[in-house]
Amino acid sequence: MTETAARGDDDVLIVVDIQNDFCPGGALAVPRGDEVVPIINRLAARFRNVVLTQDWHPRGHLSFASTHRGRKPYESIAASYGPQVLWPDHCVQETRGAAFHEQLHVPHAALIVRKGIDKSIDSYSAFYENDRKTPTGLVGYLRERGFTRIHLAGLAFDFCVRYSAEDARREGFEVFVVEDACRGIDIENSVAGTRASLMALGVPCIAAQNLA
Ligand SMILES: [Zn+2]
Repeated sequence: MTETAARGDDDVLIVVDIQNDFCPGGALAVPRGDEVVPIINRLAARFRNVVLTQDWHPRGHLSFASTHRGRKPYESIAASYGPQVLWPDHCVQETRGAAFHEQLHVPHAALIVRKGIDKSIDSYSAFYENDRKTPTGLVGYLRERGFTRIHLAGLAFDFCVRYSAEDARREGFEVFVVEDACRGIDIENSVAGTRASLMALGVPCIAAQNLA
């Protein structure tokens, strides 16, 4: 597996969740999450095809600890579809926290995929909700556009980027994670677990400068 890739009409960059709530000062801040914004701006300028994702929850969403009496953020509950980590309220639809970081500059992005919209199910992946069955429609979009190679960048490395990369690989796309354009939350060694999982699936973690 090559560690670099040329970018052309077959390539798409997916920029994951560059939103105020995931940046320092936000409700669910990823440490140093804002550092990726200029990196992603430069990266995206090198791609003809870019998709943005946006975590976009209704109030009272199942993934919010505040929805469950006596529960605290970062605890896990048994949801109908499996274990679900509880988070502080974040990325509530039409709030400032849910808006893209104001320095994000990707005017040529063709599509914004909003996820986590259903109150009763979370969605880390840009492709499938956390039941791993309900599609967002992004696979269909990418196939119809003829893209075969996906690069992923954004927040958080060990949650939404990870699940998106894993689903994309399982769908048969060639996938690269641009790791210096990501930052992680790192709960219970989840960053190391993400690297191991991606390696096992044949998803290289590359540096932006190694893009051909
Ligand atoms: Zn969320």
